[in-house]
Amino acid sequence: MSAQRFRGPVLPDGEARDLYVVDGRITYEPQPGADTAAEGWIVPGLVDAHCHLGLDDFGPTDAEATEQQAIDDRDGGALLIRDAGSAADTRWIHDRDDLPRLIRCGRHIAATKRYIRNYAHEVEPAELAAYAAQEARNGDGWIKLVGDWISRDEGDLAPSFPAEAFRDAIDAAHAEGAKVTAHCFGHGVLPGLIEAGIDCIEHGTGLTEDLIDAMVAHGTRLVPTVMQLDKFPEHAAAGQERFPAYAQTMTDLYARMPATIMAAYEAGVPIYAGSDGGGISRHGNIAGEVEALVRIGIPAHDALGAASWRAREWLGVDGLTEGASADFVVYDRNPVEDLSVLRTPTTVVLRGVARGR
Ligand SMILES: [Zn+2]
Repeated sequence: MSAQRFRGPVLPDGEARDLYVVDGRITYEPQPGADTAAEGWIVPGLVDAHCHLGLDDFGPTDAEATEQQAIDDRDGGALLIRDAGSAADTRWIHDRDDLPRLIRCGRHIAATKRYIRNYAHEVEPAELAAYAAQEARNGDGWIKLVGDWISRDEGDLAPSFPAEAFRDAIDAAHAEGAKVTAHCFGHGVLPGLIEAGIDCIEHGTGLTEDLIDAMVAHGTRLVPTVMQLDKFPEHAAAGQERFPAYAQTMTDLYARMPATIMAAYEAGVPIYAGSDGGGISRHGNIAGEVEALVRIGIPAHDALGAASWRAREWLGVDGLTEGASADFVVYDRNPVEDLSVLRTPTTVVLRGVARGR
């Protein structure tokens, strides 16, 4: 296979370089006779740290629809996906070199009748740890718990399980070598999860200063999915009539959302970008989440890092190092100065295969 040359400033440092792709791998050794495949700003393959392949509004999708979701994500530059829970078995994606790298969380685990229909294993507290261990064995090193959801009995957001059940589940997943993350909109569920050593929090709108300090102390990560949080006013409006307390909670959480996420960022909680594609959101829109992180106050270089080099490092996948798989995206402008270019990559290179616009 002949060598291809890509030329331009390479992020994160922006130093202009010639990057060569030989047999699907990156080298900075000059390759005489290499064709220049693209020039522009070169960014390590984008990462969608909260996305759902094989899921739509109604539950699991068939393989054809799932494939299209993965293609949409890839063409949007997301070449590594941490799937935050799927009701479909998406293991086959690992065998497809043309689809993004995938780190699966198995299926969501929720309390009985306390989550979106057809999404989760819905279990009782006594069953939670066993399901956590099962999904740890089924996934790719992560599991996903539904930390809280509306309780129709209480008429408000409430933890899905008692703190002790969560602790046992986290211990069970850790014993299987898997990390644990949880969907958390409200405050109540968070102290127990963070104290129990959960690895990551999804959404995190209920964080307070003391919990942010605890996350820093424990090394807990945060994937806020700001685009998903922007739907809180819709949830509040939908619940207003029957669940006014819930509507008020969602309204309050949303009013504080930018300040909450920025307090975590400023305290040093590592934040990553997640589009929540498939979780009632479209696929292929990691660019939208980078823009949303900037909108709430995260500097553009860091927001892009949250969707690229920082997230790759967190998830244990190489960046643009010598010998690494050639997974990167080329843009015709500097995305740090003009985020809108993230929507129109010039070239997406996955496992050394370049796809042009
Ligand atoms: Zn989600």
